[in-house]
Amino acid sequence: MEPIRSFLRHKKAAVKYYEAECTKIDYEKKMIYINDESEIKGSTSATEVPFDMLVVGVGAENATFGIPGVREHGCFLKEVPDAQRIRKRIMDCVETATFKDQSPEEVKRLLHMVVVGGGPTGVEFAGELQDFFENDLRKWIPEISKNFHVTLVEALPNVLPMFSKNLIEYTEQTFKEETIDIRTKTMVKRVEETYIEAEYTDASGKKVLEKIPYGLLVWATGNALKPVVKDLMSQISAQKDSRRGLAVNEYLVVKGTENIWAVGDCAIANYAPTAQVAAQEGAFLARLFNQMAKTNEIETELAELSNVQEKASSKPVRDEAFGKIKDLQKRLRRVKNIGPFEYSHQGSLAYIGSEKAVADISWLTGNLATGGQLTYFFWRSAYLSMCFSTRNRILVIMDWAKTQVFGRDVSRE
Ligand code: NAD
Repeated sequence: MEPIRSFLRHKKAAVKYYEAECTKIDYEKKMIYINDESEIKGSTSATEVPFDMLVVGVGAENATFGIPGVREHGCFLKEVPDAQRIRKRIMDCVETATFKDQSPEEVKRLLHMVVVGGGPTGVEFAGELQDFFENDLRKWIPEISKNFHVTLVEALPNVLPMFSKNLIEYTEQTFKEETIDIRTKTMVKRVEETYIEAEYTDASGKKVLEKIPYGLLVWATGNALKPVVKDLMSQISAQKDSRRGLAVNEYLVVKGTENIWAVGDCAIANYAPTAQVAAQEGAFLARLFNQMAKTNEIETELAELSNVQEKASSKPVRDEAFGKIKDLQKRLRRVKNIGPFEYSHQGSLAYIGSEKAVADISWLTGNLATGGQLTYFFWRSAYLSMCFSTRNRILVIMDWAKTQVFGRDVSRE
């Protein structure tokens, strides 16, 4: 994770940063309300932050479709603490499975890792988890080898629906070789502490409800609206037909407002909710705001110059001011002429385990399904290029090198 403090340090602008959760946005009052979610609270409990202009980029929540038991028993994979919880849970399952006198059924259950959702999140996680088992767990704790098993459950007929057909087939084939089970056309209906209930259609066309025991359940079925975004939408009449997030125009202005912009997974601009879109939207807004600041500057200067021109006593002074005004007006037209946001798709990439990745890359021949060392480097360099700072890039490379030499950490905490 990139600490926000580390990139604010080198900015000239006076940025105030509050590490807090925004609990409500009041559109009419132009006010947001924040809450310090940390354990240590200061002596004041100021919660109001007024705004003139607001950018909302709060992301999305995990979709559960109201399926009972998901929040209580499943692990999500969106924020950093989610990943830490999953890691702890994997090791807890492994250590409990090897604990004295466990029944064979219990060992099997504990070592059954179920991932629900065959989008990129579910597929990448299933691949990484199998890698963790093959490269590390199997060596350190050989007694789990026979029973450790990863299953990916997907309601649709295939995984990775956004990729082309041959890449889907390549992924399914790779998973087969990695011994990851893919259960497509299988819809999870209920989650209990030790098993899920999933519905599938059998060969005779009959719907069957099956109980699948698990030790770890990772729930990756996509995005849902955050309450703070839902509440903001309810205050703006132009948003009443929007279901998946804040509908924005081509300048990323929230429809129905003039002073609120939205970027990333909480904004609906007809693009997939991906990091690539969010990063480009952020860069566009930064350019837009810089232009707006420049426009302001030029307009103030213009007002001053026309004052000088009006009050000028001699013709040369008047002419000089007039010349400057003409130049500034030209600059103003150029600055004001900023085009709308246009997304440039660089391609889709998903890691599928055992140093293999699938990629639909628009600027190459089309799609690419590769494995081996080259893909591994391509995949890693794509991730490195997404780090914000050199500091983070170096830290990430060092982490990878450390893992290559010593393997992944297998301690429970
Ligand atoms: P997703 O919406 O892409 O996929 C969720 C899947 O879960 C769907 O295929 C859906 O059919 C399935 N599902 C839903 N309910 C189910 C149920 N009850 N039982 C079984 N299956 C069920 O979600 P995601 O994978 O979290 O991705 C979210 C967004 O983030 C996407 O836009 C994705 O492209 C992006 N993303 C991209 C990458 C990458 O490019 N490498 C990685 C992670 C996420």
